[in-house]
Amino acid sequence: MSLLKRLLAWFQPDTSRPLTQAWLAALWMGLLANWPLWQQLQTLPDITGVRGLVFTVAFAGMVTAATGALLSLLAWPRLIKGLLAVLLLSAGALAHFIGSYCIVFDPTMVVNMMQTDVRETRDLLSWRLLVSMALLGALPAWWLLRRPAAPRQAFAKRLGGNVASFGLGLVAMVLLALSVFADLSSTMRNYKTLRYMVTPLNAVYSVSSAALRGQAAPSGPPAVIGADAHLLPRTDGTKPPLLLFVVGETARAMNFSLNGYARPTNPALAALADPGLLSLQQVRSCGTSTAASLPCMFSPLGRTAFGDVKGTQENLLDVLQRAGLAVLWLDNQSGCKGLCDRVPNSPTTKLPEGAAPLPAGLCDGEECFDESLLHELDRRIAALDQERVKRGLVLLMHQMGSHGPAYFKRSPPDLKPFQPECRSNALQQCPREQVVNGYDNTIATTDRLLARSIVWLRTQASRFDPGMLYVSDHGESLGENGLYLHGMPYAMAPDEQTRVPMLLWLPQDGGLAASLKPGCLQALRDKPASHDNLFHTAMGWMGARADVYKPEWDLLAGCRR
Ligand SMILES: [Zn+2]
Repeated sequence: MSLLKRLLAWFQPDTSRPLTQAWLAALWMGLLANWPLWQQLQTLPDITGVRGLVFTVAFAGMVTAATGALLSLLAWPRLIKGLLAVLLLSAGALAHFIGSYCIVFDPTMVVNMMQTDVRETRDLLSWRLLVSMALLGALPAWWLLRRPAAPRQAFAKRLGGNVASFGLGLVAMVLLALSVFADLSSTMRNYKTLRYMVTPLNAVYSVSSAALRGQAAPSGPPAVIGADAHLLPRTDGTKPPLLLFVVGETARAMNFSLNGYARPTNPALAALADPGLLSLQQVRSCGTSTAASLPCMFSPLGRTAFGDVKGTQENLLDVLQRAGLAVLWLDNQSGCKGLCDRVPNSPTTKLPEGAAPLPAGLCDGEECFDESLLHELDRRIAALDQERVKRGLVLLMHQMGSHGPAYFKRSPPDLKPFQPECRSNALQQCPREQVVNGYDNTIATTDRLLARSIVWLRTQASRFDPGMLYVSDHGESLGENGLYLHGMPYAMAPDEQTRVPMLLWLPQDGGLAASLKPGCLQALRDKPASHDNLFHTAMGWMGARADVYKPEWDLLAGCRR
């Protein structure tokens, strides 16, 4: 009997309850006020037909679930009706602007709005706006405001109900997202602005984000670490160390033939047949995206502790420079995320004085192939503080690497051994073999860059003790279990995204190799390592010390004589 009552109650919800009102409004806004978004999704070339329809329905469900979840937390008797009325009217207005002008409602738009004067605002008013606000906003708001007063309920019980409803909404959203994850991740990646079309979450996010940004105090300098940084005295007759630290991009360990991959993706490094080259087999990244990994890779803290840092801290580059070494960051990507702000740095497109122009075919006006990193290196070094260079040099190269989804853009025309390759950035549209071909061509491109780097490093052996450390920032999914690209939350990320290649090159006739116990390096091959080791290994490599240096995280420390 009670079950029957409950079922009936489900079909005839008590619309005086704040939670019911929250979910009805979420349904209304999620489905109806987002009509421009649903229309837009139908026009995307990547997902069409039944698949596009399924994706759109799942997406609509996600938007409704997310909106309902958030509103559940605000479902309190004195609050919810007024709040929903404001949101509904805003959603009606947004639907009009997004639908008519294809605007995206992001924080910048909010700032623009606040700086708009009355005259400009008047230009935006139209009868279409009024109709949209009336139908999508005023009508449901009017209905809501006429609902009877909420039934009395104990505070704890209402709180419990709201929290449970929030949780259910989240679970529904996650399940829906997982059901269409491949399409969702690639669509969100390829059409970044879509997220700002999701009404009313775009308004809630953008307004609060703009408000927070306005309030945030100007960020001060990063906290100092390794204030006592110094160099160990160098043995007489030895040359200053030159460490080439190649920061890879989106390379996953399993696609390196050096790590057992069946296809010859490392022909150039293999051809060097250099016994000083070591590929570590068990390396984990710190994050699954550039933004998460890069700062962590250069921090002494390691993955677990890094997440708890408040504000910004100095990094490896600051500490190496403070120890007296020369540091240079060369960037062939979107920049160093603030890491190189206090050391000499340059994009590959900015050449030192007197340098020859970049060879034709290396850059297309928008981006350059990674080989541009090797252009005029001697001249770049000559432009550094020579007192520092005499103590040692850490040269960082930040690659474009295997950055997706347009893998085909990352390998030069003469370096595409794996054919045919996917020539679209809508990866799920290509046969999987073509996606893998395109990706493997980027690995072959990195392979040649690293081999040529070693060749260049050998030319420096008369004045330096050269070496190379290469590591990727995170891996990549290439359609395994329907997943593409990267950026999964670390705890649920597959191995493809967190297992990264790491190469060490210590020439056998070099000073560093001579300072290590014979054969010890080879034992590192199968030892688990991670981005946590990078700061400490680089410090040890350069003979630098500071209070933050942990020898137990220095990969080479155990091998020193
Ligand atoms: Zn990355």
